[in-house]
Amino acid sequence: MPELRELHGHPWFRFAIHAGLMAAFAMAALSLMLRPGKILGTCGVSVTLLGALLGGSRSTALVPDPTPLFFGLDFFVPNVLFTGFLFVPIERLFAHRPDQRLFRDEWREDLFYYLASSLMVQVLTFLTFAPSNMILAAVPLPGFRSWVGGLPFLVQFGAIMFLTDFLQYWIHRAFHRVPWLWKFHAVHHSARSMDWMAGARMHFLEIIALRSLTVIPMAVLGFSATAVNSYIFLVYLYSTFVHANVNWRFPIIEKFLVSPRFHHWHHGIEDEAIDVNFAVRFPLFDRMFGTYFLPKNQRPSGYGVQHPVPKGSLSQFRFPFRP
Ligand SMILES: [Zn+2]
Ligand SMILES: [Zn+2]
Repeated sequence: MPELRELHGHPWFRFAIHAGLMAAFAMAALSLMLRPGKILGTCGVSVTLLGALLGGSRSTALVPDPTPLFFGLDFFVPNVLFTGFLFVPIERLFAHRPDQRLFRDEWREDLFYYLASSLMVQVLTFLTFAPSNMILAAVPLPGFRSWVGGLPFLVQFGAIMFLTDFLQYWIHRAFHRVPWLWKFHAVHHSARSMDWMAGARMHFLEIIALRSLTVIPMAVLGFSATAVNSYIFLVYLYSTFVHANVNWRFPIIEKFLVSPRFHHWHHGIEDEAIDVNFAVRFPLFDRMFGTYFLPKNQRPSGYGVQHPVPKGSLSQFRFPFRP
């Protein structure tokens, strides 16, 4: 990631990589000793040795990188660790369902979705450049765009949040009401346990559709890259939060901002919970368009859909294309 590339010269950065490699090797060896299954430990030892062979903490880039494309693994790893470490203790301490374990049913599938969609954040942000430049070439709005881009950061950020949530409300509603689109979105609703990993379970084409239909218009309208990127980062954290297994209640705030309880009702197994609470940040849109449902102090009795969504991310990817 370009912003982090400057860190590479720092001695402590080199030391951290060295310490990381040593810790990885030690833990992989421990896993080999303690676990009956040896696949994880063998992978850990092999990857660490490969890393050391490729240069370890002394590695340098072979060529200066001339492309603006980057994968963002250096951002991705701390991000995943940070979010995981943040939500795991929160869910332990303030669980809505204390009996639900961290390694619950289908946790591997959801963790895979979580890792893959975090990686896609970088790629998708890059991919949205080309279409927005094409639109801009066709419809240049120089005066309007520079006015929008010159607004204070917080104003831009608030406007992006509001506009994208309006768009997302209708996109989300379409994904529920159009039968073919529902097959994509049913993957998200097939989660039977709600926690920080469950929100990431989403068909990859839905992620691409959602991201481009919300981010491209914002780029075209002229919002600054900083405001758009801050929005993307906040959305990522916020959607993790609204799915989390937390019992926190926000009696007044949840009238204005989507709370975990509000979004849990969107996933509820009850009949009343079907096709309600489409908004992702502002319940106002559900009130305006008649889909608001939030019974006082209650949560759904279960989560999921009465729908034959297969298990496993590959089968889920193919699911909408099957007759
Ligand atoms: Zn939905
Ligand atoms: Zn959800």
